[in-house]
Amino acid sequence: MLEKILEEIEQRISHYRENATAEYVDVCAGLREADEIIRQHMNDELNKNLEELKQYRAIGTVDECREAAERRKAKRPDYEGDGEADGYPVYDTWICPHCGEHYEIEYEEYACCPKCGQEIDWNEVSN
Ligand SMILES: [Zn+2]
Repeated sequence: MLEKILEEIEQRISHYRENATAEYVDVCAGLREADEIIRQHMNDELNKNLEELKQYRAIGTVDECREAAERRKAKRPDYEGDGEADGYPVYDTWICPHCGEHYEIEYEEYACCPKCGQEIDWNEVSN
């Protein structure tokens, strides 16, 4: 749409330029100005769209947002045993329910997984 307008202005300008007489000079200058304004407007529009796109990229896609929201919901970790003691299983490893990263119980207990950010629900720890 704007391309067409620009094209038309371009044609008019060259037409006036070719038939330039004193009385057309002002019209020509006016058209140049209009051309510049439209170019600027297009530029602003383009930059605005680019900025919105950048912000959107920074926020993430809908799927990425949904996935991040999912990780904000605390989930219980999985546990991995290391033999038994007095007839009870001994767990020395907890596993991130989101990414499967292994961590050492008691030494590496985080509010959320350092690798993927999954929040960990430490209630009902059974070790
Ligand atoms: Zn994880």
